Amino acid sequence: MEKREQLYEGKAKKVFATDDPALLIVSYKDDATAFNGLKKGTIAGKGVINNQMSNRLMARLEKAGVPTHFVEELSERETLVKKVEIVPLEVIVRNISTGSFCKRYGFPEGVVFDEPTVEYSYKNDALNDPLICDSHVLAMKLATREELELIRTYAMKVNEVLGAFWKSCGVTLVDFKLEFGRLEDGSIILADEISPDTCRLWDAATGKKLDKDRFRQDLGGVEEAYQEIMGRLEAKDTGF
Ligand code: ADP
Ligand code: UDP
Repeated sequence: MEKREQLYEGKAKKVFATDDPALLIVSYKDDATAFNGLKKGTIAGKGVINNQMSNRLMARLEKAGVPTHFVEELSERETLVKKVEIVPLEVIVRNISTGSFCKRYGFPEGVVFDEPTVEYSYKNDALNDPLICDSHVLAMKLATREELELIRTYAMKVNEVLGAFWKSCGVTLVDFKLEFGRLEDGSIILADEISPDTCRLWDAATGKKLDKDRFRQDLGGVEEAYQEIMGRLEAKDTGF
């Protein structure tokens, strides 16, 4: 597989073309941003951890029946993925109230929901990724009704599979963000990444935050938290 020109540089990753038009190489950076790019910093070693964690979780999801873009880990920071047309939605699943949910509704922190919630944000940096409802997604033709239904089903399955896996690691999956995309044939697959940048992960025993909230909220021990959560995964994710 030959790496070709850089197509895109985002906040956390670079995307490169390859000699196969159906495949891309993503390269994970240590750059960290929060509050839509307002806060900027570096988390040493984050790119390596996010790359490896995302790949291992996606491999697990594939086995559980959720199609993903993951093809092959090429190096510590680089992965070969299937190229998709990204559906411009951030699909957010929540098990426990925190973050923007509490802020938006004035709702208390830490309430465990009877059923997970799913919401969508319109992926648009200039507009600050506004919350969007199903009918507006359909009106703007961001996705079809069938695609939205499938995305919701996959998102729930991801929550089930990863919630159980993280539980076995002594970690609570609080909430997370997913992105989906379309292959050439129109089928929907999970894309982007699943990492401590995109999930809230709390130590089940102590409630300690082991994710990007340590960076967002200046809690300190950011690198250590990324290492700790990767260590937890590695201890359990054997034989995959
Ligand atoms: P951002 O664009 O939000 O700054 P990143 O730095 O993570 O985010 O950049 C990665 C970009 O690549 C994102 O825009 C994401 O939607 C896109 N992307 C992720 N997976 C794929 C894929 N398989 N095919 C095409 N684009 C992808
Ligand atoms: N999230 C993300 N990217 C975003 C916004 C949110 O990965 O642009 C993740 C975030 O890490 C958390 C979940 O989605 O796991 C829910 O985040 P929330 O809506 O509470 O937003 P925040 O409080 O981070 O602004």
